[in-house]
Amino acid sequence: MPDPRLTQPWHGVPREEIDWRPVVDEGLCNGCGVCVTGCGRAVFAYDYEREKAVVVEPLHCMVGCVTCANVCPEGAVSFPSLDALRELIQERGVVAAARRELEEGRARLGLRRPEPSSAGNHIAEGGQP
Ligand code: SF4
Ligand code: SF4
Repeated sequence: MPDPRLTQPWHGVPREEIDWRPVVDEGLCNGCGVCVTGCGRAVFAYDYEREKAVVVEPLHCMVGCVTCANVCPEGAVSFPSLDALRELIQERGVVAAARRELEEGRARLGLRRPEPSSAGNHIAEGGQP
């Protein structure tokens, strides 16, 4: 059963309309568990009897993430085409949505720079950097 917190729309596009999920080639999988224990979104379960990784919640997968494929020592994890994802980004207004999110999220997303005056005071007071 998907967790609704992990299947939110992606920049306005319903998650179920995005073909992005890992596929495990069981012939290559050596059962090491790196993907299962490393994914923070509970996409995988582990079949202890067969010693294989199993994709159980594909919609939990973070769109665009390929971490589990990168760390799999056997190259057993694959993903849909990146070209198709880039097409979706173009066609579904993802960039415009991200721009809006940046505007709305200024307080949360903005870079915090140190106050120039406090940095100067610190050096002056201490005598040394
Ligand atoms: S990381 Fe690769 S080899 Fe290891 S369990 Fe996952 S799919 Fe199998
Ligand atoms: S790509 Fe990232 S989010 Fe998706 S299953 Fe792999 S590690 Fe988890």
